[in-house]
Amino acid sequence: MNIIIGISWPFANGELHIGHAASSLPGDVIARYHRLKGDKVILVSGTDCHGTPTEVKALQENKSPKEIVDECHVSFAKDFKDFGISFDLYNRTDDLYHKKFVQEQFVKYYNNGYLKEKEEEQLYCDNCKLFLADRYIIGICPKCGAEIKGDECEKCGSLLTIDEVKETKCAICGNKASYKKNKNLYIKLSNFQNNIKDLLESKKSLWRENAVNFTERYLKEGIPDRCASRTLNYGIDIPIDGFKENII
Ligand SMILES: [Zn+2]
Ligand SMILES: [Zn+2]
Repeated sequence: MNIIIGISWPFANGELHIGHAASSLPGDVIARYHRLKGDKVILVSGTDCHGTPTEVKALQENKSPKEIVDECHVSFAKDFKDFGISFDLYNRTDDLYHKKFVQEQFVKYYNNGYLKEKEEEQLYCDNCKLFLADRYIIGICPKCGAEIKGDECEKCGSLLTIDEVKETKCAICGNKASYKKNKNLYIKLSNFQNNIKDLLESKKSLWRENAVNFTERYLKEGIPDRCASRTLNYGIDIPIDGFKENII
């Protein structure tokens, strides 16, 4: 039998911690079991090199994202080895083979009509040159006036949307955040609502209860389209006209 086991890819923005060790252990145990049985096993993971956390870390340490990624990859690979995780492949997402595969898939989705363009106003920091995810925004709670991070007030317990937050600033550098148009490609997951419903019905008795509940909740709310590209500096280029400023 051929067995592929994938362990989640840690983000290149710091050091591994005990949680990474704990979450990689079950996959390693299963891989060893199947190898002893004589099955063909690939236990695979790698360093996730692209994303906001990596770019923020680079800004904070005054280094390039590539330098951060290179440092993290060496330390992650060593830690996993020292911990004894028996990877057949521990790779990185800026590997050329991976980049080429992702670009091919992305173009295929685009040509088959599964990606759509959407432009949104998003909070941006002119100083960091970054669109700010909620967790990188600080501001004032409109209900109680406390200083808050993101869209949740710890003082009065209000759950807000980010455009309700007053006096928004960049949490990385403290600069005032301003709205800027951000164009991205979204994967039309909503097209698959019925397929996923059918899949759930046919597998319901085999799935765990929490997986069933979770899927049912999404189906009830309607599966949302998901942003599939990013406006960052370090990532995989999108080989589609009009999206040269975005990455995957
Ligand atoms: Zn509040
Ligand atoms: Zn900033």
